Amino acid sequence: MTRFVQTGPSLRDPYTADPQLRGWLDRLLGEDGHAAAKERLADLSAEVMGPLRAAHHDAETHPPTLTRFDAWGNRVERVDTSAGWQAQRAAAARHAVVALPYQSDARAAWGPGARVVQHALLHLWGPESATFSCPVAMADGAAALLTQAGVQGAWLAKLVCTDPAVAVTSGQWMTESQGGSDIARSTTTARPDGRGGWLLTGDKWFCSAIDSAMAVALARPEGAGPGSRNLVPFLVPRYAADGRTPAPGLQVLRLKDKLGTRAVPTGEVRLDDVAAFPLADPGAPGLATMMTLVVVTRLHNAAAAAGGMRRGLEYALSYAAERTIADGRLADNPLHRATLGGLAVDAAGAFALAMHAFALLGRAEHGDAAAAAELRLAAPLAKLTTGRLAVASASEYLECFGGAGYVEDTGIPRLLRDAQVLPIWEGTTNVLSVDVLRALSSGLSGGEGAAPLLHRLIAAADAGAHRLPGVADALAAATRRLAADVATAAADPRDPRVVAGARELALRLGHALTAALLLEHAAWAAERGDERPALLASLWILRRLGQADVSADLHEHFAQLI
Ligand SMILES: Cc1cc2nc3c(=O)[nH]c(=O)nc-3n(C[C@H](O)[C@H](O)[C@H](O)COP(=O)(O)OP(=O)(O)OC[C@H]3O[C@@H](n4cnc5c(N)ncnc54)[C@H](O)[C@@H]3O)c2cc1C
Repeated sequence: MTRFVQTGPSLRDPYTADPQLRGWLDRLLGEDGHAAAKERLADLSAEVMGPLRAAHHDAETHPPTLTRFDAWGNRVERVDTSAGWQAQRAAAARHAVVALPYQSDARAAWGPGARVVQHALLHLWGPESATFSCPVAMADGAAALLTQAGVQGAWLAKLVCTDPAVAVTSGQWMTESQGGSDIARSTTTARPDGRGGWLLTGDKWFCSAIDSAMAVALARPEGAGPGSRNLVPFLVPRYAADGRTPAPGLQVLRLKDKLGTRAVPTGEVRLDDVAAFPLADPGAPGLATMMTLVVVTRLHNAAAAAGGMRRGLEYALSYAAERTIADGRLADNPLHRATLGGLAVDAAGAFALAMHAFALLGRAEHGDAAAAAELRLAAPLAKLTTGRLAVASASEYLECFGGAGYVEDTGIPRLLRDAQVLPIWEGTTNVLSVDVLRALSSGLSGGEGAAPLLHRLIAAADAGAHRLPGVADALAAATRRLAADVATAAADPRDPRVVAGARELALRLGHALTAALLLEHAAWAAERGDERPALLASLWILRRLGQADVSADLHEHFAQLI
């Protein structure tokens, strides 16, 4: 008897097989700027298809362990990670995934666009990184915070180093057991050590990448008032001078047994007079300083969502080309094509949001006040919108594989498990929606926080009116409704009815922003004879803003969507 064995999914080169990524790089960097980035993108892409894929698999199948005591009862608190995790660590440094926006030659080559190139690196590497993208996000956030706080020196140099033997990553210790969203409840305290340093005492409940060399921890300095704004970020060296044993007073109580991100060692940490130094004036409210880090990690979260969606699509497409059902290949079945086409449109939308947010970050870091104002709202919108899209898409990707999608060693279940963290950490969907309300009502006379976004929506609808009239009308109508609802929300953001509707409003804003971004790109591409982006924009807008059933279009135009 011949036994049937299904061919598993393969991976095309993620750089050359992603026309959306290449198109956006051409537009945002200019063709010369993109050409200057090509070699590093192609190099990383080649590694993703080979050694990093293997390292990813190794790290996923050999999760980290914590050994608290040695055989003789000595406290050792050793976190062991796999060879695959170490390979990812080295790759992150070598490919400058954190370092790039801080390198003077990259800033000279691309200016603010260095953040765009960094997003491209994350997009290619993140899904095959065994979630090493998590310590990378926190290291980038810490580097941004140190840079902004003017704390140059050894730690910053190591965070942005490309030598794997020297480079370090950072943790970020905010969450405590009594409240992750409500950090006002934090009980970790900081007191001067009498010699110019500070000592931290308290428990931190979720400390990812606990193997990192340092962490940025929130603590309340002695004498500071209550509330979240009076918390201050401190840099905590994780290890003693030998670089191996925990810093005096620091205990890793246990590692979390998590649904996903299993290669990442996430610890519960006790601090008992642990040495630290402040990253903001300990005599003044410091949470605003910490937000520099949080904005960066939120953007990395959006990049992880968008990258994961694109990679899930690649695997599902590959499988559909191989798997046959009653009437032929899955890839030829109209209903399956419509399913995959919808996923392609969503992946395109998530990518546009994440890339836009990175582009704004780069401009804001180069002193562009308008970009900084736009980023205030775009960051939470990008994070919350892509997080929800990623979970919904991951569920579909699993289903595209039928029963195989539910079987561990296909590697597919991980897509769903790992996607589920995206709407949780760095602010749940609801918490970010409340932040969106705050952003909307900011500005001198209130309500001005939405102005850059509304201008962008109106401009995109106007520009699209000539080429894509029905589609542009749908965006214009959605913008009018949003402008009215934003005005109501901004007028009284604490009204219980406004608060109850915050998530719905935030998601509508996120979908509308995505529509505008896709339309902007479509207009640029059409001038170069590429109509594919216009199709993606149209289908996104008709589906998400017009609530239309576009299934037949998804099937008919399938080849152009992928
Ligand atoms: C895998 C993983 C890794 C993590 N790594 C880290 C890390 O490295 N460092 C770190 O500091 N934290 C980390 N976290 C913690 C994470 O940031 C928190 O879990 C998250 O912020 C939510 O906080 P919480 O768990 O206390 O939930 P809660 O704040 O108790 O939330 C419970 C529910 O209440 C809702 N809610 C809370 N406040 C509001 C509000 N104002 N309005 C409406 N609804 C609200 C939330 O949406 C949620 O549904 C990690 C979490 C996970 C899952």
